Amino acid sequence: MIIDFHVHIRKDKGTVDNFLRGMDQNNIDISVVHPIVPGGTLGLSDNEFVGQLCKEHPDRLLGFACVIPTELGAADELKAALDKYDFKGLKLHPPLQNFSMDDPRIAPCIEVCIERDIPILIHTGGIYTQGARMMLSDCSYIIDDLAIRYPKCKFVIAHGNPMTWDPVIVAKNPNVYMDTTGTMAHWCSLFPQLGPAVIEQMRTSDRLLYGSDANAMNTQRFVENLKPMLEMDISEEVRNKILCENAKKLLKIK
Ligand SMILES: [Zn+2]
Repeated sequence: MIIDFHVHIRKDKGTVDNFLRGMDQNNIDISVVHPIVPGGTLGLSDNEFVGQLCKEHPDRLLGFACVIPTELGAADELKAALDKYDFKGLKLHPPLQNFSMDDPRIAPCIEVCIERDIPILIHTGGIYTQGARMMLSDCSYIIDDLAIRYPKCKFVIAHGNPMTWDPVIVAKNPNVYMDTTGTMAHWCSLFPQLGPAVIEQMRTSDRLLYGSDANAMNTQRFVENLKPMLEMDISEEVRNKILCENAKKLLKIK
C-alpha cells in the first residue's frame, strides 16, 4: 500500500479522473488532498471543494482542512470544517496566507488540533508564486519552538529539506514529522546516498512521510517523487514506513 501524504486538486485545473488515473499508474492507494485558502493564482481549492471530492471518492482521497489561522473566528471555522467533512488534519501555508508561524493569533487553531488529535501540515521552503513572502515559509525553527511549547500537537514540516537542520528538528521532537515532497525527493535523486544518511540523522524512520505535490494537471510528480524513494538504499521495512505505515498511524487508518 502507498499513501501520498501531500497532493492538491483544484477547481477547473485538470479532472479528478485524470488524477485518479495517475494514482493508479503509480500504485498509489490513498492521496491526502490539501486545500489552500486563498488559492490566488494557483486556483480554487477550499474546504468545500476538497471536502466534496473526498466524499465522492472516500476510498481514494482523504482531506485536510485549511483556514487562515490569524483571522477572527478561524478556530470555529476549522471545527465546523472538521465536523462537516471528517478532515484528517489542518494545512497551513504561511507565505500564501501571509502570516508568520510565530503569530500568537494562530494559538486557537493549534488548540483545536490538539483537542481533535489531528496533525498540522505546514508549507516550508520554496514557493514560485510571485508575491508570496518566502521569509514566512522559512519557518522550521519556529515549528521546532511550537513543538516544544505544544508537545501534544503534531506538526508536519512539508517539503522538509535534508540539507538544513530539518532532520534534527524531527529527531529531537517526537511530535514533529516531515514529508519528502519535492525537496527531499529532489536532493535524493541528485545524490542517491543522501536518503539513508538523512534517516540516520533523524534517528528514526517513524516520522518521514512520502508526498508528491501532484495535482490533476501534473500527475508526473507522482513518478518524480516516488522514484527516489523506491530506489533508496534502505530496508523494505523502512521503505514501507515512509510510503505507508507512518501515514497510516498519523491519519489513524486501520
Ligand atoms: Zn503543496
